[in-house]
Amino acid sequence: MNRSVDWRAYWATAPDWNAHDQLALSVREHVLGPGTIDRTIDPADAARAMSCSVRRHKGSGALMHTASLIPRVDSEYPFEIVLNALDPLPRQRFSIAHELGHTFFYDRSLEPPARLLRIGGKAEERFCDEFAGELLLPNENIPEDAGPTLLVRLAERFLVSVQVVAWRAMRRQKWLAILGLSWKGSRRKPDDIALRVDWLATPPGTWVPVDAKYRSGPALELGESGFGAGISDLALGSLRGEFMQQAGPLPDGGVLLMIEPLETAKG
Ligand SMILES: [Zn+2]
Repeated sequence: MNRSVDWRAYWATAPDWNAHDQLALSVREHVLGPGTIDRTIDPADAARAMSCSVRRHKGSGALMHTASLIPRVDSEYPFEIVLNALDPLPRQRFSIAHELGHTFFYDRSLEPPARLLRIGGKAEERFCDEFAGELLLPNENIPEDAGPTLLVRLAERFLVSVQVVAWRAMRRQKWLAILGLSWKGSRRKPDDIALRVDWLATPPGTWVPVDAKYRSGPALELGESGFGAGISDLALGSLRGEFMQQAGPLPDGGVLLMIEPLETAKG
């Protein structure tokens, strides 16, 4: 950490688009104490510490898949986070952490707190995702050589989705892509059951269609150990050619596939 950022004072200098990690670590330390980088945080505790109340609704319609941050006047806390009680727990945890990120874009000295930037900027959304990721799973916990088995274990331990761990691992710039695959039909051919792309963590410029069929390689050859690895051809969207691939099982019955360029795999 080359400089310290205190989350309580951050809004005064926002936006500093690179401060998400320091802010997350500053909040973690405030809630959990020092030397706790490997501990699982309850984002509801972080919310309380940051003067946000959390309300869960069992709503439908427009609110169904979104969480939101509401500035308040007449309440104990200046912010309220509203989220869907029907979302899976890891998703609720990420939603709280993401909305906490948005509080950094308000002037807290006003009542209710006032927006500092216009709503809906992509940079702010990215910032909040990075903040949430580092708050829930500090990157230091992901070893350089972490493979599929360890990523799944980290997701279980830190109570985040495997997708969140995959995006965190992508920051290492070692991987070309990390994909979640599952056995299913495509939208156009529901009966054509195959191992297909469910979700992806990829850098900008990489393009993989969801539902693309994985035709051959380690993800189809998980052995007794539940692990597969090898150099194999791939043809998924813009991911074409020979790559080093590692695959392991996902808790939901799918496969986690990690793709590495050959140069770094050999070196
Ligand atoms: Zn957001």
